[in-house]
Amino acid sequence: RKRVMKISTGSKQFDTILGGGFQTMSISEVFGEFRCGKTQLAHTMSVIAQLPKDLGGAEGKVAYIGMSLIIDQMDAMLTANADTEGTFRPERIAQIAERFGVDPETAQDNITYARAVNSEHQMELLNKVAEYFVGNEYRLLIIDSIMALFRVDYTGRGELNERQQKLNQFLSKLTHVAEALTLLCLVEFNVAVLMTNQVQSDPGASALFAGADGRKPVGGHILAHASATRILLRKGRGEERVAKIQDSPDMPEKEATYIITNGGIND
Ligand code: ATP
Ligand code: MG
Repeated sequence: RKRVMKISTGSKQFDTILGGGFQTMSISEVFGEFRCGKTQLAHTMSVIAQLPKDLGGAEGKVAYIGMSLIIDQMDAMLTANADTEGTFRPERIAQIAERFGVDPETAQDNITYARAVNSEHQMELLNKVAEYFVGNEYRLLIIDSIMALFRVDYTGRGELNERQQKLNQFLSKLTHVAEALTLLCLVEFNVAVLMTNQVQSDPGASALFAGADGRKPVGGHILAHASATRILLRKGRGEERVAKIQDSPDMPEKEATYIITNGGIND
């Protein structure tokens, strides 16, 4: 029988509003503008997930799917503003491991990293990840970021019927991704899925994603339906960052502050 485990964020305050951390057998989404700490949270949790339970971990391995944005596919706006590099940084893992007294190389070895180059590849990697999970104690799956490649695939340019066709393809692919994630963490394996997402007001958002208030994650209702817990991250005063629960099956819509340090997310 699978039992729900909670993986700490590295910040006690952040953990508190989550009821202890991000849960296994659940899909969670953190979204927010650039540099609010989505990738840093993903790195921090990739180390913590390996720790013993009394230290906020789940004693498990981690699968990390990063994205590679290919410049040619992007329009000028997107190129100028997006994080164009692979998001995974082994040297950050080593620094965070040191904070928790873990051997840096062991921490790195326990993370299976793959970089998706387009949204089809992202789907392939999810299937591959499912194969890795069989017979292995994976407890955390990171997807950083879930919509980046879709946004590149769907440029929103061209004739109306061409745009409509791309939109339909896009929605169908996203549905497959959401279904694959649900299967992985709700049905088959005891993993926490943490996906990062951008907000609609981010520079480079195409027509499909543009929104008014800048506080909505991209991906529409398909993604909204897939994630059980949605958390908005934003910059606060000075170095402070703020996490706010926007959607949760069992926790109130509270806020917490956190900071980003050499050792990852902290209070
Ligand atoms: P994007 O949408 O561009 O991917 P993000 O939300 O993923 O943004 P992160 O990359 O997680 O943002 O966070 C970037 C922030 O983390 C920057 O403000 C940077 O200064 C800070 N940061 C990165 N490494 C360290 C470190 N070693 N010590 C302190 N702060 C750091
Ligand atoms: Mg990032």
